[in-house]
Amino acid sequence: MLAPLLASLLAATPIPAWTVDTITVRSGQTLAAALYGDGLSTGEVDGALAALPKTLDLRKVRDGTGLRIERKSGALSFLEIHEGPVAEWSVRRDGAAFAGSQREFVVEKRVVDVDATVTSSLWQAFTDAGEDPQLALAIADVFAWDVDFYLDPRKGDRIRAVVERMQVGDRVIGYGELLAAEYAGAEGDHQLFRYVDRTGRADYFDAKGGSARKAFLKSPLKFARISSKFGMRMHPTLHYLKQHEGIDYVAPTGTPVWAIGDGTVLAAGYKGANGNYVGIRHKNGLETFYCHLSAIASGIRAGARVAQKKLIGYVGMTGRATGPHLHFALKKAGSFINPLTFHVPRAEPLPAKELPDFRAAIGPLLERLHGEPVASTLAPPIVTAAR
Ligand SMILES: [Zn+2]
Repeated sequence: MLAPLLASLLAATPIPAWTVDTITVRSGQTLAAALYGDGLSTGEVDGALAALPKTLDLRKVRDGTGLRIERKSGALSFLEIHEGPVAEWSVRRDGAAFAGSQREFVVEKRVVDVDATVTSSLWQAFTDAGEDPQLALAIADVFAWDVDFYLDPRKGDRIRAVVERMQVGDRVIGYGELLAAEYAGAEGDHQLFRYVDRTGRADYFDAKGGSARKAFLKSPLKFARISSKFGMRMHPTLHYLKQHEGIDYVAPTGTPVWAIGDGTVLAAGYKGANGNYVGIRHKNGLETFYCHLSAIASGIRAGARVAQKKLIGYVGMTGRATGPHLHFALKKAGSFINPLTFHVPRAEPLPAKELPDFRAAIGPLLERLHGEPVASTLAPPIVTAAR
């Protein structure tokens, strides 16, 4: 008796079929196009867009924006739009109409201490420390004058940092300023502090007020997440062949290559054994050359001015190359010299009049780097030489 009753009940009140699609707005697509693409009708798209709170800037809904589309019996019942991790908009069916609402998440900025140890790679070190590995990029960026993050890291190297971390609940959504960082590695120890001087300019200095900057970066390869299998196994090979003096950095195709110093592009194009190459003229009769690139970055052409850290191309194997690598060469007064032994002076240290403020500012950071309790900011310790 029960089965026919159940069947008749089901027939009388059919359970609305409920479906959920989660899609992502594609490059070049508008929100409306994405909704049509998921099969919504003109009435549903128009109704939903009209109901959306005006705080949502439709021009900002683009490549990568996540959409959740719920339907009951085939008709749109709920639409949710995730614009980044901090806000969410939604539209819910209310009879024949739609009602929109907005939810905002509170982003908390905390200054945290990070302690990471290199085991397999720099990325893994930060993941193991419970951080987003994007922090590796910020660390690599401030130490770029002293550490080649493709060649120098060794197992057991230790990174400590004091950094502003943005969170929504327990979820790390990004980082603010890197306030202090220390790289204690097989290659050497380095410590840097962010300091805003009296003119409002922020820069990084060691504990004595010496600049982090040099005329040239340590590596022509910009640290990026390319392929973990390379990690620490890359070693540069010095070439002493005629007309081929320089260093070969074996690296995966696509590894970004940056200008190691400010300068003017001498040449950028394809030439014989060099393949795609870029030559840059710097101050003091110095020139750098970057060869076998898979591609030259846009805007890099003869005569263009480039700043240090400017992306100029990507590692490849064009020209005479048996595998992907960057052939990097340095010329001084027209002759090739060894970039690995070329001494690059540091930029100007902080002027003496800034030092008292600087010491006061970095005192608590120094203590945090070493895991000690943070001193009262009313009486900062006077820091003399840290090492
Ligand atoms: Zn070479």
